[in-house]
Amino acid sequence: MEEHLQEDLATLSELDEKSLLESLSQRFKQDKIYTYIGDILVAVNPFKYLPLYEKEVSETYKCHDKKALPPHIFAVADRAYQSMLGRLGTGPENQCIVISGESGAGKTESTKLLLRHMMELCKANSQLEQQILQVNPLLEVFGNAQTVMNDNSSRFGKYIQLRFSGTSVKGAKINEYLLEKSRVVQQDKGERNFHIFYCMLAGVCPDDKEIYGLLEPEQYRYLNGASLSVDMVNHWSKKYADVCNAMDMVGFEEQEKVDMMTILAGILSLGNIMLEPGEGDALRVTETSVGWLRAAAGQFGVQEEELLKSLICTMSVTRGEAIRRLHSQQQAEDARDSIAKVAYGRVFGWIVSKVNELLAPNVDPDVELREIGILDIFGFENFAVNRFEQLCINLANEQLQYFFNHHIFLMEQREYKEENLDWEVITYKDNKPILDLFLTKPIGILSLLDEQSAFPQASDRDFVDKLNGKFKAHPNYEVVRSHSPAFTVVHYAAKVQYNGVGFLERNRDTIPGSIRGLFINSVTPLLSLLFAATISRTGTLMPRKAKLAQIAEDNFNSTRKQSVGAQFKHSLGVLMEKMFAASPHFIRCIKPNCTKSPDVLDNNFVMDQLRYNGLLETIRIRRDGFSWRPTFKEFAERYSLLLLKPDTPLNRESCMHILNNTRFTGWTCGSSRLFFKYWHQEELARLLDRLGKAAVA
Ligand code: ATP
Ligand code: MG
Repeated sequence: MEEHLQEDLATLSELDEKSLLESLSQRFKQDKIYTYIGDILVAVNPFKYLPLYEKEVSETYKCHDKKALPPHIFAVADRAYQSMLGRLGTGPENQCIVISGESGAGKTESTKLLLRHMMELCKANSQLEQQILQVNPLLEVFGNAQTVMNDNSSRFGKYIQLRFSGTSVKGAKINEYLLEKSRVVQQDKGERNFHIFYCMLAGVCPDDKEIYGLLEPEQYRYLNGASLSVDMVNHWSKKYADVCNAMDMVGFEEQEKVDMMTILAGILSLGNIMLEPGEGDALRVTETSVGWLRAAAGQFGVQEEELLKSLICTMSVTRGEAIRRLHSQQQAEDARDSIAKVAYGRVFGWIVSKVNELLAPNVDPDVELREIGILDIFGFENFAVNRFEQLCINLANEQLQYFFNHHIFLMEQREYKEENLDWEVITYKDNKPILDLFLTKPIGILSLLDEQSAFPQASDRDFVDKLNGKFKAHPNYEVVRSHSPAFTVVHYAAKVQYNGVGFLERNRDTIPGSIRGLFINSVTPLLSLLFAATISRTGTLMPRKAKLAQIAEDNFNSTRKQSVGAQFKHSLGVLMEKMFAASPHFIRCIKPNCTKSPDVLDNNFVMDQLRYNGLLETIRIRRDGFSWRPTFKEFAERYSLLLLKPDTPLNRESCMHILNNTRFTGWTCGSSRLFFKYWHQEELARLLDRLGKAAVA
């Protein structure tokens, strides 16, 4: 009994931080990594293989009596699926599964398990199922990389929406958020570039290497000149085979694949181009990198001189006259790196939009589709040096925490009040002030960043000075006294010091003005397409024709586009709108230790996560509160089968009549709705099921 009770922390009678930690830790020792808090799943990363996901296991979690089964991620998938179909007390509606946790806590692995079980549930046709299952490994190889926190860290956020008609899946759509492009040109100590580069270098056969113009890994500056150990070669070459297989399965064409690999090889060659002062004021390519310039131009399918020109000078138009401005060495190197970043970013965006095209539901437009979305973003990060990318990542995590709080604490308790329930308010750590610090117009951090980014002369120091001036009294902001520009934000999860260097440039994300024109004329069809099309905010490619006029202008004017911060803020807003309109399911991933070790649970480290996740308060509200709150009408309509008499009015009395005929306890009645515990929904579904069966018999 004791053990069974612990499977759901909302049933703990003694409730404090210590008993919560103790319960999770005891379970973890027995390899029980999943635990419920009512309808919320807590998952502790085991960092080792556990026999939890075999076919037999997923069979048992197919819409059976989940209360009798141990907590499991498959049960969450099942619940979302049944709710989407309207089998769990509410009408059929869109669902979203929100997975949170810090970097390395297990969000991406959870996403894959959810998808797998979902495919089992809806008995997808085998081709579509395989395509959908291949999407994650495919995106991972291009968008994940090794960091100090996680060997397979997601360097982008994604929202995968499965589209259903009735019980069967018809397609999928992916939204991606903010790929960390800077990684292409620079990685901190202990970190690596995106997986795909190592995959290619280890996996491409010698003949193809020649076609792509690939050399040995240690020759590339963008890979920090690192060689690959034998183990790594084995590991990555297997992954390369998997990627090729995934691309085939999803439906990429052979030529597209070849073009893509060639562009990636071009990025590596580009990184080796070094420049030095030449005759006059112009820079020239160093003697040792002449070959790299030739290689890059060949791989990009452009003229060598044109590529060089885009590195060493900028063209601009003033009063109708084209003016050439020569670059300093630093500017030329920055131009080189921006080309690499933009090319990689476009390849990634193209893969996503291609996947979306290939997996778009093939149904009549009037067929109504429902959705289950799974959100897997980059987890909260606090490195030795935190840059603009970490700021965006951490902001996204703040937004998710807010979403969680809003659903679990705010909305729920607001309804108790409205309905005059006798309720002792549970307080929680509201992170709205932090969100406001970032997002408020016109004086949030992002707005100030945009304001400064619009001044060509402004420096990172100016930006940080502005922040200090505005926010020095804000409880979530701390001024940092140092000669380099830095500031601290007190996030919901931890204090993070940001290094302001590079903020303006990364937010502007300017690409050299001439690069678009250069690449549009590439003889490599894919590269030309990537630069002729504009990737819209939603991640889809916009057609060439629609954008041609703008491109002509952009060729000389690269500062006009929306800043990275503004785009990110916008896409987060759209995502939140979508999520607020769906019915949410939460998975809280916990990282047991920071050394990625199996069987080790570091108490202090885990306690921190329990605290900032607000898990104690969550248990309290799930234990004492009512997570399911249908109106009288909703409830009576839904359970009219239990009313027995036809044509009974859908009001309070009818509801009481239904409920008095059950043996349910723990529910209560407000002025316009009923208040149920999280388990009542499934109990009623079971009762209804039994009655339905009895009626048929
Ligand atoms: P990030 O925010 O950096 O992307 P994440 O939360 O997505 O992190 P994952 O990549 O899912 O973290 O997990 C990190 C590693 O932990 C995995 O590569 C795997 O080795 C291990 N892991 C996670 N979940 C499980 C699991 N259920 N069983 C076994 N190992 C796991
Ligand atoms: Mg991840």
